[in-house]
Amino acid sequence: MKNNLLKKYTIVGILTLLLVSMMAACSSAPKKETAEKKAQRPIMVQGPMPIEAEHFAERLKNVKEEKSGDFVFYIGTLDDYPVIIAKTGKGMENTAAATAIAIEKYNPIAIINQGTSGGHDPDLNVFDIVLGKRTTNLGSLKTADKAENEGIDPTIWKPMDLMASEGSAGEDPNAEKPRFYEGDKELLAAAHAVKDTYTKGKVVDGTIGSADVWNNEVDRIKWFHKKYDTSVEEMEGAAAAQIAKAYDVPFLGIRVLSNNKVNGGKYNPNTATANQGYVYEVVKQYITTVNK
Ligand code: SAH
Repeated sequence: MKNNLLKKYTIVGILTLLLVSMMAACSSAPKKETAEKKAQRPIMVQGPMPIEAEHFAERLKNVKEEKSGDFVFYIGTLDDYPVIIAKTGKGMENTAAATAIAIEKYNPIAIINQGTSGGHDPDLNVFDIVLGKRTTNLGSLKTADKAENEGIDPTIWKPMDLMASEGSAGEDPNAEKPRFYEGDKELLAAAHAVKDTYTKGKVVDGTIGSADVWNNEVDRIKWFHKKYDTSVEEMEGAAAAQIAKAYDVPFLGIRVLSNNKVNGGKYNPNTATANQGYVYEVVKQYITTVNK
């Protein structure tokens, strides 16, 4: 009799405990959600020059500024989602360093590298925008083998893929090709979805070429266009793409033509603001997919 009563009480006790812990689990669920929301990984948008970053930064809400070396990070929100604008400075080295630091510090969910560029494609005009389906380094080259007094011949230089292996790229015939970094599919889809919001020119998929070089020789530009199928050139995209790939962070380059030597398009700095306006729409669209 006593034993049975004891058993009953133990069962009731266990059931009560279970019920209480289930209720606790239920009530703590919303709390967990807010914690997750707080931990949302930011979207990072990079721009090299002040005119290529500050316009977007001004449109963010709740902005806080942080610096690392020369790099400035405007940390804010867009549609309540965390977005960071990085002013990286010009060129490959600045961009690679700013990208690695940003990934280590802020753990971005995606990186968009954007700004101005020079046209390689005669069908593209100043204010047109190129979405980097592919991005490649135009400064990574192997020259021909020539002895003293045999001269210099850039037209027979070969592309060199520094990521082909960990061994010597100079000796490796497999490294004699360009390395193309693919634009992330979801970022591209977001960019395609808001194409029509941009009215100052066309928006096309293409190949972005990067190097610390400003090419003004039309024959050399044509050589790159033919060999690498480049749409535009600039000085940052491939550096950011390479580091983003190293950390497996989705990446897309978005470049407006500010000049086009091939068809006489004169440099126009207002293109930088126009591009940021379009990239703002891309980020807004991407946030809707991230939030799903
Ligand atoms: N005309 C500008 C030059 C900027 S330097 C000035 O005097 O202020 C080059 C910057 O513009 C880089 O960040 C690069 O990404 C971009 N750029 C625009 N057009 C370019 C081109 N034709 N070749 C190389 N970089 C170009």
